[in-house]
Amino acid sequence: MTVRVPAKVNLQLSVGPLRDDGFHDLVNVFQAVSLYDEVTASESDRVEIVCDHADVPLGADNLAARAAHALAPGRGVRLEIKKTIPIAGGMAGGSADAAAALVACDALWNLGKTREELMEIGGALGSDVPFALLGGTAVGTGKGEVLRPMVAAGTFHWVFALADGGLSTPQVYGECDRIREATGEQAAWPSLSGPLARALADGDAAALGAALVNDLQPAAIMLRRSLHRTLDEGRELGALGALVSGSGPTCAFLAADEMHARELAVSLTSCREAVVASGPVPGAAIV
Ligand code: ATP
Repeated sequence: MTVRVPAKVNLQLSVGPLRDDGFHDLVNVFQAVSLYDEVTASESDRVEIVCDHADVPLGADNLAARAAHALAPGRGVRLEIKKTIPIAGGMAGGSADAAAALVACDALWNLGKTREELMEIGGALGSDVPFALLGGTAVGTGKGEVLRPMVAAGTFHWVFALADGGLSTPQVYGECDRIREATGEQAAWPSLSGPLARALADGDAAALGAALVNDLQPAAIMLRRSLHRTLDEGRELGALGALVSGSGPTCAFLAADEMHARELAVSLTSCREAVVASGPVPGAAIV
């Protein structure tokens, strides 16, 4: 049973004030893009993880293993993960694998869960897991757990600049809090950007490029100074919008069309690798 699952890019990531429980209220607009991991589930008497990338943990802390356990505690499965989504890259690769594992195990074990049931189980594993099941374009609010699909017309063309090594999401949030404390900046209560929602509904790439926003970007740049140069390089190459994806260090550039995306990708020099992708695409699905 093989499931293909997309990465996400955050079009808006607005981070509210730190709450008493240590979380932030977020407004998080996700778009699923055509960079995919694949998870294949087959029968086994124990939970077994195999992965083609050395940086992925193979034990019980692998998010795909946790997903299998959440679905049917104590049941065995062999999960073979083929990674294309960058690891710790701000594109929710681990959450994507968890979503794929939920769909694959549900089918392998004939559990017959609805997508809504899988999204609820996934939400307990991580706030990005439900979106990897839903796909498309959606806005998450609260801690990210309340998810609502958004209208997006047409296809947007992206370039992703992949960096060497990852950034830890909790560390980036911590740096965001530290910067706010040091500068005395009061975080605003987050709300969905009107210009961004309109640009999506109109399929207007130029307007979307201008509306992209990520409150974690200053923190990610503080932890990885080279991201500044990568973002500048993309803008100089004519990207309609440039931002750090989620907690980084992947940088996302919005291109005018597919040809522009290809030109941008081959011209970017200040990153390990640049890949093109388009969105929105559907969520985790059996292939
Ligand atoms: P997000 O965008 O959701 O903050 P990310 O894309 O920055 O996440 P992930 O690729 O999800 O980061 O990985 C974060 C950490 O999760 C990794 O450093 C790794 O140790 C752990 N992890 C657990 N399971 C997986 C998995 N299946 N694939 C990748 N990383 C995993």
